Amino acid sequence: MSNKERIKNLLTQESEKLLNCVHCGLCLDQCPTYKLTGNESNSPRGRLAMWRAQNEGRADSKELVQHYTSECLGCLACETACPANVPYGEILMEQRQQQYEETGKLHPQVKIVAGLTKKPGLMKAATLPVRIMRNFGFSPDPLIPTGKTSLFKSSFKHAINNNQQLAETKEKVRFFTGCHTENFYPEINFATLDVLKANGIEVEVPASQQCCGALHEHTGLHDKDELDKKNCDVFDQQIDVPILTNAAGCGLSLKHALKSPVKDVLSYLGERDLTQPKRKQTAKIFIDMPCHLYHGQGVQKIPQNVLEAIGEDIHYAPSCQDCCGAAGTYNIEKAENSTKIIDGKVEFLNEYKGQEIIITTANAICMQQWHAAVKRNFPHENFKVKHIISLLAENYT
Ligand code: SF4
Ligand code: SF4
Repeated sequence: MSNKERIKNLLTQESEKLLNCVHCGLCLDQCPTYKLTGNESNSPRGRLAMWRAQNEGRADSKELVQHYTSECLGCLACETACPANVPYGEILMEQRQQQYEETGKLHPQVKIVAGLTKKPGLMKAATLPVRIMRNFGFSPDPLIPTGKTSLFKSSFKHAINNNQQLAETKEKVRFFTGCHTENFYPEINFATLDVLKANGIEVEVPASQQCCGALHEHTGLHDKDELDKKNCDVFDQQIDVPILTNAAGCGLSLKHALKSPVKDVLSYLGERDLTQPKRKQTAKIFIDMPCHLYHGQGVQKIPQNVLEAIGEDIHYAPSCQDCCGAAGTYNIEKAENSTKIIDGKVEFLNEYKGQEIIITTANAICMQQWHAAVKRNFPHENFKVKHIISLLAENYT
């Protein structure tokens, strides 16, 4: 059944269950947009009431419903808090699809990116200037950190090289590269492959894999069905071999689409005896949990053995379970709200001025959001932002 059909079915046949909000309000204090505005319409309960009114033909203003639907981050913190198991994320997706059908409105930048995700070769070429600039120490955008990266090499080739160096293979996995990480930060994917190699794991990177469709899901574009079908054809041939990701959003989107088991690489490593790393990080490290890992996939902690392999001075950042404000395309479409949300989250770093600090997360999009906020708020401090898997890879190499 297609995504669209599935949601339509849910809404028509199971509308009572879907719209089973008992108005208890337990989700309000977990909702970043409610905390930011104090406005009931900008809360999960308010949005659910508005959508129900719209479905029943009672909504006062279509424009207001569209506005508050677009204000939602899709972070799913309300689902975690909800005692009535209201499937908020599914309802949001349906509302966004309906809204896109009615208005056809899409942020121009999002439109370009959504188009590129369906043409991997073109995306690789179009993002080459970004990789070149990063390599030479220039940020093409405040969100994008500089750093040594590969200009042309792909994860597909990197995995083949790594597999050839494996003396003994303990297990085999498949790796989903994610078009954003693969094109903007291929070094994070290489770090993932290197950690797996250090632990004797052979990795296949299927060359014909497609974008996971998370961006399309966020914005209401129907292209997700087409991408899901192609990824099912690529991955669901061998459902006994796990698929690993290092991007929480891709992981959640793939879990919606595939029969094969999809796991975040950190959870996968957490279930194994890890090879002892050569060194450990010495800086104080704060972890922020991506909302699509914490709320979407239910992974609320980084496994203890992974933390021990990284360093000794590791802590969860305050409000680490709250969305950083990046949420799919939110930091493009709602830049002002997005900035306020992340600036609130970085405030705790005031206590650590003058110290060497690493802020780490498990999704390149969240990493960008933190990077921009740290640079904006603490330009002269020794605060670095890195993906968790990159820290682990540094320890092994
Ligand atoms: S998904 Fe996040 S932003 Fe949207 S209503 Fe739920 S908690 Fe609020
Ligand atoms: S927690 Fe669930 S039932 Fe309670 S107001 Fe929020 S969505 Fe409704």
